[in-house]
Amino acid sequence: QNFGNAPFPAAVMGVLQSARYGAPSPIQAQAWPIALAGRDLVAIASTGSGKTLGFLLPALLHIQACGGDPALGPTAVVLAPTRELARQIEAEARRFAHVVMSGDAAAGSGRRQRPGSWSRFGRHQRGAQRGEVEGGLRTACIYGGAARSVQLEQIRRQPHLVIATPGRLLDFIEAGEIRMKQVSYLVLDEADRMLDMGFEEQIAMVARSMSADRQTLFFSATWPDDVRDAAAAFAKRRAVHLF
Ligand code: AMP
Repeated sequence: QNFGNAPFPAAVMGVLQSARYGAPSPIQAQAWPIALAGRDLVAIASTGSGKTLGFLLPALLHIQACGGDPALGPTAVVLAPTRELARQIEAEARRFAHVVMSGDAAAGSGRRQRPGSWSRFGRHQRGAQRGEVEGGLRTACIYGGAARSVQLEQIRRQPHLVIATPGRLLDFIEAGEIRMKQVSYLVLDEADRMLDMGFEEQIAMVARSMSADRQTLFFSATWPDDVRDAAAAFAKRRAVHLF
């Protein structure tokens, strides 16, 4: 009843251990190996299942492994239906960003990862402007109904990971303020709610702005026809289905 063979660096395991979670949830145990293998994923999962860490922890490893240049845009994007959910997801991600940033990796279990591992998060940060966090994963949270200026500032800090509602993110893309070409990991969280809210066309346009051979993870609490169609349209690289 622990995370003994979860496939994450000590830095991540340290956070999981200090959260006293006990064991991976079923969706985590199933989704992690699929996501880490680079496969597309379609999962039926609701709030409380642990789905957020199901897609976030592989996202962090993906960003690290990609070694992309944040100046060219984010590497990973999570789309969510509401500002509240987007903020919750960002808060989950930031728990890990902080440990990564602190340098002494595994809070509690000690040492830094081998060079070239988590420490690489700091790589592009040399010459960073004053006021920016030294090293570590940078996130941006983008949603409608709030000032654009604050969000634009987050974009200008060159986040590795962007968590967004579809409409506002599309605004920034169309204004040429964020580049999506480098995105190789896309999550659609609570896709059924996004469709209910009429976001399908915006999601499609956001997805089209990204690399076609990105990895896509699609999460929905329900499985009606329109959700099936969207899953087939967005997660199409021989997606593994978890029901
Ligand atoms: P989610 O379903 O992703 O919204 O997660 C619901 C809550 O469960 C969040 O507060 C998580 O921090 C927490 N959580 C995530 N994974 C686990 C786990 N393996 N064991 C216990 N709680 C978890």
